[in-house]
Amino acid sequence: MGPPFLQVDILRKDTMPGHDNLPPISILGSGYVGAVTGAGFANLGHNVWLVDIDPRKIEAVRDGRPPVFEPGLADLFSANKMNLFGTTNIQEAVEHTAISFLCVGTPQGVGGSQDLRQVESACKALGSAVARKSRHHTVIVKSTVLPGTTEDVILPIIERESQKTRGDEFGIGVNPEFLQEGSAVRDFQYPDRIVIGRRDEQTRMIMENLFKPFECPKIFVDLKTAEMVKFVNNAFLATKISFANEIGNLCKKMGIDTSDVFQAVGLDRRINPAFFRSGIGFGGSCLPKDLNALIAHAEELGIEHEILNAVRRINETQPEMMLYLLKRHLPDLKHRRIGILGLSFKPGTDDIRESRAIPVIQRLEEEGAKVIAYDPKAMSPFQKLIPAINYAQSANDVLKADAVLIITEWEEFNYIDYSGKIVIDGRRIDRARETARIYEGVCW
Ligand code: NAD
Repeated sequence: MGPPFLQVDILRKDTMPGHDNLPPISILGSGYVGAVTGAGFANLGHNVWLVDIDPRKIEAVRDGRPPVFEPGLADLFSANKMNLFGTTNIQEAVEHTAISFLCVGTPQGVGGSQDLRQVESACKALGSAVARKSRHHTVIVKSTVLPGTTEDVILPIIERESQKTRGDEFGIGVNPEFLQEGSAVRDFQYPDRIVIGRRDEQTRMIMENLFKPFECPKIFVDLKTAEMVKFVNNAFLATKISFANEIGNLCKKMGIDTSDVFQAVGLDRRINPAFFRSGIGFGGSCLPKDLNALIAHAEELGIEHEILNAVRRINETQPEMMLYLLKRHLPDLKHRRIGILGLSFKPGTDDIRESRAIPVIQRLEEEGAKVIAYDPKAMSPFQKLIPAINYAQSANDVLKADAVLIITEWEEFNYIDYSGKIVIDGRRIDRARETARIYEGVCW
């Protein structure tokens, strides 16, 4: 189901001891990670400068609005607008701050490798800004980068552009981000752990002070290890999901409800219930691209990754299950009206990157179906990506189609009456199971 109730803790800074001494922070890249990290630190009392090359994002920041949608983020922005500043100029932000978090995107490049162009261009500008500073500056890499990138790519760019050397003049650290879209604000406020990669003692002390308000375990490692932690984390979560889907497909064949199986197995403390569900696979801005980057990197190093390749393969074929189940009931999809409920890659976000809706809709179009889709938050980004389908005003309008496919488990889809409908459910919406005329769950 949707994300659990989100409690955003707005702090009263005037009651916090010594908040005036908190170092000002700049955030380079104000997307999902940057906006949440920036607003989170502003809420802890820091002056925060959010930077982006996209002027619309900075305009939003200057208006006291979040540049991306994320539950609870609007409250944080409006409660902290006095100490949240926006600029498109990295130089200005670095001048006003002592610590910069690098939060730009690291999308998928050729052959699954990482495209580091955003990182390289932000670091160039950061390096020339550091050159003009007389005081020490700390650079923290939060973007997900492959092991060795901070040391071999980021550091040389900053040193070259600033004509300064790491150590006394500026420090560098790695602080991988584990937030999940949809619950990112809570994840910032209550992380499971904080991982900090550093090379020198001064950076360690700066980071220790910065993260003092957080009570979770803090793990100090070297730069490369911190970078690797993030990839292993995501590779493991992806593996858990693909494993659940493979077992789910088997259970469906045997007439066993997989969710009962995973509920029971997940209660084993060695396993844990999170991410242990079957469905139509994982999407989003992180798991697919990080998995691909790790596989591509392993190949470069001459290591064949059998498990990770299988995880990817299962994820790519899983959306096909929806078509297979649909065609059991509507064998010829030509000119059939097929409704899609949910376009974002998960509930609680407008992010459609690698959403499973994309391959499902593409397959429906190949079959000649007429697609009508609805999502509470992600209609406009999806319309830009796939303009040629019909978009409905409401979930109920989608129900007028010949069959409905549920792609994202938005809470509101649990309050619809599916009576008389054929529903193929990729996410397990109880209400659909209870009310649909014909109901097929992907793995149950
Ligand atoms: P995003 O695409 O939402 O945001 C990146 C922002 O950086 C964009 O607004 C872009 O305009 C800006 N940018 C690009 N080049 C710039 C430059 N030279 N100067 C200033 N700004 C620039 O990306 P995101 O989802 O926030 O992810 C950022 C990083 O964090 C990625 O490496 C990602 O893998 C990682 N990460 C993301 C998540 C997540 O759930 N989104 C979670 C953990 C880690």
